[in-house]
Amino acid sequence: MQTSLDFDRDSALPRMAEILVLTFGKARRHTDDALRQLIFMTLAEGEARSVGLAVFEQMRRRYPNWRALSDASADDLTGLFVGLAHRRRKAEAIPGLLKAIEAESGGFDLSFLARVSTDAARRWLEKLPGVSHTMASAVLAFSSLNRAALPVDRASARPIRRLGLCAEGAPLSALGRQVLERAPASWDAEIVADFSYGLSRLAAGYCGPARPDCEGCPLSTLCPQAARPDSQVIAFPGGQHQRRRPAPAQGPTSGHGVKAS
Ligand code: SF4
Repeated sequence: MQTSLDFDRDSALPRMAEILVLTFGKARRHTDDALRQLIFMTLAEGEARSVGLAVFEQMRRRYPNWRALSDASADDLTGLFVGLAHRRRKAEAIPGLLKAIEAESGGFDLSFLARVSTDAARRWLEKLPGVSHTMASAVLAFSSLNRAALPVDRASARPIRRLGLCAEGAPLSALGRQVLERAPASWDAEIVADFSYGLSRLAAGYCGPARPDCEGCPLSTLCPQAARPDSQVIAFPGGQHQRRRPAPAQGPTSGHGVKAS
């Protein structure tokens, strides 16, 4: 996995991963099959995990198999998705996604992805309607496929860019690959999932869009931005000065929340 010759940066990655786990805990290990995870992520995009889960379970009770959900009308689903953002769009997207999967694979089963490489599986998923690079990576990492894939959304891109873990100006879709190219060859799916989870928590709690809270950040000693004056820290659109602190993790924690990429 290692291709970079920047040994300082490479050697910092395991330390960063270690600190993130110590600070935020480990990612929850998922046993959901890939299709269930993909539909859940489509439904829960932009929502708190608890809200997404509640609506997902309600949807599964109403439509107990994928065929029934594939045939569901957008009007019915819109009514079911009360409280979700973009509920009409999601109500149209989910049956459309299932129909596309059936057309492409002959059924409602993504287990065949376990037999192809991570890159090939991601490319297959990305061809589906509404499935971004970030979402495809998240399905690979946080389902029973259990692949060493790093989903990067706009939030987790902030610490990746500020920590210097990618090339300057690299597109969002390249960030996960660029980080993993710098990672030790020993990084497996579990370590990558924990790192992904830690980055999400870091982005939410410390590394905000405007001036990040470098003073309290657990990675401040490893980050080139930490000692810079405010005006020289890489800024991102939106947000205010970051002062929120996530609660310390208490053992295994909840899973990854994917935002629009
Ligand atoms: S030190 Fe500051 S810029 Fe660097 S990762 Fe932490 S919060 Fe972000």
